[in-house]
Amino acid sequence: MHSSTRVAICGAGPSGLSQLHAFESARQCGSQIPEIVCFEKQSDLGGQWNYTGRIGLDEYSEPVHSSMYENLWTILPKECSEFVDYSFDKHFGQPLTSYPPRTVILDYIRGYAEQNNVRQYIQFYTVVRWISYSHDKKRFNVIVKDLRKDETRSEEFDFVVVATGHFSKPNIPYFNGIETFIGQIFHSHNYRSAHDFVDKHVLLIGNGFSAEDISLQLYKYGAKSVTLSYRTKPKNFKWPNEIQEVPLLVKIDRETVYFNDGSSQVVHVIIFCTGYLHYFPFLDNNLRLNSTNCLYPPDLYKGIFWLNQPRLLYLSMQVLTFSLNIGNIQAWYARDVILGKIILPSTKDEMQFDMEQWHVKEKVIQNLSDSIDFQREYLLDLINATDYPRFDINRMAKILLECVKSKFDNILTYREKTYASTVTDTMAKQHHTSWLSEMDDRLENFIRK
Ligand code: FAD
Repeated sequence: MHSSTRVAICGAGPSGLSQLHAFESARQCGSQIPEIVCFEKQSDLGGQWNYTGRIGLDEYSEPVHSSMYENLWTILPKECSEFVDYSFDKHFGQPLTSYPPRTVILDYIRGYAEQNNVRQYIQFYTVVRWISYSHDKKRFNVIVKDLRKDETRSEEFDFVVVATGHFSKPNIPYFNGIETFIGQIFHSHNYRSAHDFVDKHVLLIGNGFSAEDISLQLYKYGAKSVTLSYRTKPKNFKWPNEIQEVPLLVKIDRETVYFNDGSSQVVHVIIFCTGYLHYFPFLDNNLRLNSTNCLYPPDLYKGIFWLNQPRLLYLSMQVLTFSLNIGNIQAWYARDVILGKIILPSTKDEMQFDMEQWHVKEKVIQNLSDSIDFQREYLLDLINATDYPRFDINRMAKILLECVKSKFDNILTYREKTYASTVTDTMAKQHHTSWLSEMDDRLENFIRK
């Protein structure tokens, strides 16, 4: 690495922060690090967890990034989203429930950033507008806009790390008759509060994580009925009577929705829980990842390095079963490549060969357990090449599986289960009130003073 090497990090969510932390920890250990600049379009760090009640556009007419909502509690145990070198114990100094609300996780992520003193590298209110690569200069040209000053400028970088997430751009399929619907219709990206749907009949299109959680919220806060329309197969949880699963929606006619088993229903609200698109409008065509939400995105060596220009890196672009840990582990590996501690294969063929092994394994995945195993193996491959702090990833995988099982045991009470941290061994504490009865999501209600 040359002393004038510059690295741009796009996004200060958990993945961008992980990249900053990886460099900062190398610096604190005496390594020379490149000049790093992180561009974040929001006013603060935290990414998706930096919730705003706004929908549509923000105060600078930029698309609102977060798809989270007011009463969101984690859908995975926090023990599967724990920074290995910044445990929940270290941040809170006390055991907490395994499934805390959004406010708790945001506080934790901010603590992680503060303890590592990485704010100094972040330029807030700065949106990345365009990135291209100059073969002549062998550098990236990065055009950013300072939203507050309304000024656009361009800078050159040797490496670019894209950590802008992939849960912001709604995927909205067309349904026959959609234009005739007379109720409220929107994507889950714009869902903010279950309080708005008390006594309503609500249809959720899709039955993935978003539909699962939003249906439970709507039930908790008093919707009259919630119908989940699935494309391939039902979840088959033991839903309460107010929630039901039906097959694919085929037609909408004013307030009536028709499904492909011949049944129909009158609904007030339709929410598209149809997932998100990988969307990078700021990247030149030849740099832009084109992927679905899969376990090993195409054209990314080690799931990180853009095959045609490995100085362009992407973090957390895969299905996030191990969630925050994925970007965190990738960031360590990415740092070591940038610092020259890990040398990438010299030819594209060698990289392609390695990627092909993973694609072959991915093709035979049949269920969630296989997916978790695949990602565990993938992460171990990265960990073993670096000095990333060791932790019991096998135990983390078991917790993920137990979490799934407990949803099938009782979808209304799975958040009452507690797990031990794989970092500190501390057993999580049962929250004083069940998720169904707890209406106070404030941080103060979850930590002892
Ligand atoms: P993000 O958190 O999306 O951060 C990306 C950052 O990039 C943002 O700050 C954004 O403002 C910035 N950015 C984007 N474009 C630009 C640009 N052009 N210029 C400058 N900055 C830009 N994970 C869990 O572990 N547990 C959960 O319970 C959980 N629940 C979830 C529920 C919902 C509804 C959603 C949507 C996600 C959930 N997740 C959960 C996953 C969550 O996305 C990850 O935890 C984490 O936020 C991913 O971090 P990231 O940094 O990769 O991306």
